[in-house]
Amino acid sequence: MSIEVRNISKTFGTFKALDDVSLTVGTGELVALLGPSGSGKTTLLRIIAGLEQPDPGGGPILFHQEGVSERHVSQRGVGFVFQHYALFRHLSVFENVAFGLRVKRRAERPSRAVIRARVHQLLQLVQLDQLAHRYPHQLSGGQRQRVALARALAVEPRVLLLDEPFGALDAKVRKELRAWLRRLHDELHMTSVFVTHDQDEALEVADRVVVTHEGRIEQTGTPDEVFHHPATEFVMNFLGDVNTFHARVQAGRVQFNSLELPFPDNRQQIVGQARVFVRPFDVTIDTKTNGLPALEARVVRVHSAGPLVRLELRTGEDQRLVAEISQERFRTMNLEAGSRVYVRPRHIRVFAG
Ligand code: ADP
Ligand code: MG
Repeated sequence: MSIEVRNISKTFGTFKALDDVSLTVGTGELVALLGPSGSGKTTLLRIIAGLEQPDPGGGPILFHQEGVSERHVSQRGVGFVFQHYALFRHLSVFENVAFGLRVKRRAERPSRAVIRARVHQLLQLVQLDQLAHRYPHQLSGGQRQRVALARALAVEPRVLLLDEPFGALDAKVRKELRAWLRRLHDELHMTSVFVTHDQDEALEVADRVVVTHEGRIEQTGTPDEVFHHPATEFVMNFLGDVNTFHARVQAGRVQFNSLELPFPDNRQQIVGQARVFVRPFDVTIDTKTNGLPALEARVVRVHSAGPLVRLELRTGEDQRLVAEISQERFRTMNLEAGSRVYVRPRHIRVFAG
């Protein structure tokens, strides 16, 4: 079941929460809507579901090439999982998952035996079959979200919509659940839209990432594309730490601070004022100058408790810089606060402005 949304806007009072948004989700694809809080992710998800009406004049919303704009939420065949597990507190895990099947009209309702079999199958899928008799308050947050997912899947939705489903959980559980959700998706191949403001989560879970910003889509691409080839400054900033420099571009050369480097990317030629972005792991640090263009800096702070060593630096121009180097490299260099270093950007990205 593919989803297609064309030229959708949504205004609340005078505030434009969505501004001419178009989006396609292929059959069986898992797409992440990634953006800061307030960028319109939930609004877009609710419009896809039919919980919210877009502004008039926008293009169609198509499920499998068929217009669903006139179809009520109950007729769209969508399953939902929200951030706050809305499980029924007075029902057991088993009954929570069975609920959507039990409330079906008599003509469509499966027999008790079929319901029982399907619920156990789903609980096995989310690895909770041993806990079928428990009540929500007897579960951890992560277990509750897995029940919520099983409950959403019980009615065999054509589309699964997840709105920050792991947002309320702590970091370690979130990480486990995102890996688990990806494996589950590889088994079921349900067309899914997953909303998150956490870039790591989006990059790890999704087939494609849609980056949202102030009600618009900034960029759509695979996790690799949006991370390694950000189309805009906003995407560059949002998808990881960056160092930013004011720069000038002239005759194919980029000048910033005391450096002059070749323009890195010929797809988008810029002349004049520009901004240069350098990711912390895209620099080489040396303790001696070796003739190559480099920024001179002093170490302000060393954070070595992590997979990489993170160095806070201050350049001669009094600009703050962050660099990340391997533990091995760090040990060979004897760095501490106050050390003088030479910082050579290996990879820069330039945007106009
Ligand atoms: P996100 O999910 O990306 O955090 P939302 O889609 O929830 O963003 O909201 C986008 C913007 O629209 C926000 O500024 C929010 O305050 C506003 N908004 C959302 N729903 C309503 C509403 N029912 N009434 C008024 N403003 C709303
Ligand atoms: Mg939201």
